[in-house]
Amino acid sequence: MNVQQGTAPDGDAVVVEDPRLLDLVTKGTAARWLGGDAIWSEGPLYLPDDDAVIWSDIPTDRILRWDNATGTVSVHRAGVEFTNGRTLDLDGRVVTCSHGRRAVERTEPDGHTHVLVDGWNGVRFNSPNDVVVKSDGTIWFTDPAYGIIQAHEGHPGDREYGDHYVFRFDPANGEVTPVVLDVEEPNGLAFSPDESLLYVSDTAGAAGLGHFGAVNHHIRVYDVVRGRYAKNGRVFAVVSPGVPDGFRVDVHGDVWTSSGDSVQVFAPDGSRLGRIPVPQVVGNLCFGGPDRSTVFVAATTGLYRIPTTTRGCSPADLAVDSR
Ligand code: MG
Repeated sequence: MNVQQGTAPDGDAVVVEDPRLLDLVTKGTAARWLGGDAIWSEGPLYLPDDDAVIWSDIPTDRILRWDNATGTVSVHRAGVEFTNGRTLDLDGRVVTCSHGRRAVERTEPDGHTHVLVDGWNGVRFNSPNDVVVKSDGTIWFTDPAYGIIQAHEGHPGDREYGDHYVFRFDPANGEVTPVVLDVEEPNGLAFSPDESLLYVSDTAGAAGLGHFGAVNHHIRVYDVVRGRYAKNGRVFAVVSPGVPDGFRVDVHGDVWTSSGDSVQVFAPDGSRLGRIPVPQVVGNLCFGGPDRSTVFVAATTGLYRIPTTTRGCSPADLAVDSR
């Protein structure tokens, strides 16, 4: 079912704050509107087999889809229990966070979706928000409370373990391990290209105050120890206006993050290189396109596209889609 394409203006040209940004985008680059009729867009993912992008409209409980071949937006799935972030695993299967099921789930090549993991130590997760797959096949995801404290983003419920952690799940043996315990409301996450660093954003306060009033709006970085643990957390970058809800890392280690008014780009040393303005509040983004050099931006009512001269570094950016 095709949806109203919606209308929204394209963005203004890139704002260069450090000439290193011009190694990543061409001068004059701007975000271009692709379509959508969402209320709040999140969780974009490029599907290589289809040359398409799917993303979540959390409040309407739908997954929307943009096809490059036709340039149209359609409803990919509806009644999906409030999906949020997603990625591809090493076999090209879509791994998705579900607020409603309080779970991380996986879609098999035949289209069947099932819960992979929904709790730890006998209690349920809060509402898994965003997810990455490491090159060893383990699944790392954030577990803030947004889907159980906001009725329009899931089902109201209790924080059964009384906090908000980042977890590591090993689908090979079912092991669930908390790996980051010191972030107030963990939201986006990504590894550096060599997976020696884990980035996790903190967007505490965003549920009650909105993105522009959040108490915390920074990305923390951790050392990944023995490929299994995250230690030595420190602030990597403060993002303003708005929050770093979701972000991705390119092959050079630059961090491309959502914010209230743009996609902002930070060098591996934490300095901001500049920003690509987006006319709507940005929820999340992903690399995609046949050569993975396009940044697809999920921003409030729909999807935007930003051409770059770099590419994403995660297994999802390298995977061959075989859902
Ligand atoms: Mg998020």
